Amino acid sequence: MTKEGMKWYRETLMVDAHNDVISRMRDGGLDFCQRESATHSDLPRLLEAGVNLQVLALFAPPNSNKSITLQRILSYAEYALDCIDRDSRLHLVRTKADLAAAAPGEDKLGVILGVEGGDCLGEELWILRLLFRLGVRLLTITWSNRNALADGIWEKDTKGGLTVFGKEVIKKMEALGMIIDVSHLAPAGFWDVAQVTAGPFIASHSNAAAICPHPRNLTDEQIRCIADRGGVVGVNFCGPHLTEAGRAAIDDVIQHIEYLWKVAGEDHVGLGTDYDGIDVPPRGLEDVTSLPRLIENLKQRGHSEKRLEKFMGGNFLRVFKTVLPD
Ligand SMILES: [Zn+2]
Repeated sequence: MTKEGMKWYRETLMVDAHNDVISRMRDGGLDFCQRESATHSDLPRLLEAGVNLQVLALFAPPNSNKSITLQRILSYAEYALDCIDRDSRLHLVRTKADLAAAAPGEDKLGVILGVEGGDCLGEELWILRLLFRLGVRLLTITWSNRNALADGIWEKDTKGGLTVFGKEVIKKMEALGMIIDVSHLAPAGFWDVAQVTAGPFIASHSNAAAICPHPRNLTDEQIRCIADRGGVVGVNFCGPHLTEAGRAAIDDVIQHIEYLWKVAGEDHVGLGTDYDGIDVPPRGLEDVTSLPRLIENLKQRGHSEKRLEKFMGGNFLRVFKTVLPD
């Protein structure tokens, strides 16, 4: 990137709507605030990459014992909150006003805590309220399995949508000011969310099924629905979600971004990298510090700075400003 290009990049808000590094750090006995070599990201590299606002996903693999799932989610929340407490470069975003701290050029990382999969709620709405009190502001309704809220994409043959409890959770999230995330949700649940919500919702880390027909990817109708509602689709760097062969490079990511842009329009595309939740990052995007290269390549393909500012973070910021509480 030229010196001038880098200056523009540094002055532009960068938001990533999905990263799984917290569980990798805690499970591996590593420190998120230090530079690590075993992960795709850490605080120093996120700052180096110019990321200003990061959704940190708290994820526990499916377990029939929901108390164990809840314990694991809480252990990741505690780990993340501990990092935020002891490192002044981290700032927990809980309100609209907190988003101001995630400004470019601050050498600070705004963190939105997200829970990936409503499994940990069991069938208890108070757990959602407790997570909100702890600072969680995003819930991915399901992972790929079934939970008490809805079916994930592994269950799509059942045609199961939101349960009565799932609808209660969605209503409560809207009332509290939590971001509703439909990535991983089976199609029936997706359309139920569209029906029962009033405001925007997001797919934090999902790609286009027309480019790669993976069940995790979104159809054109789903992409248009998210756009019509003012939401955003975050492009995911997961190989099998980018190409049918499962191996991917930076150009495959660009292909999905450009396809989403054509279907949804420039106000509804963002990044949801899934760093540290994916096994092998695309060639050319090996770790989070590769993000400037992605933006530079998009620029070289003729995308204006104004449009790229939206893709890089402006679009997700708009949704967060709309949804988060005062
Ligand atoms: Zn995921």
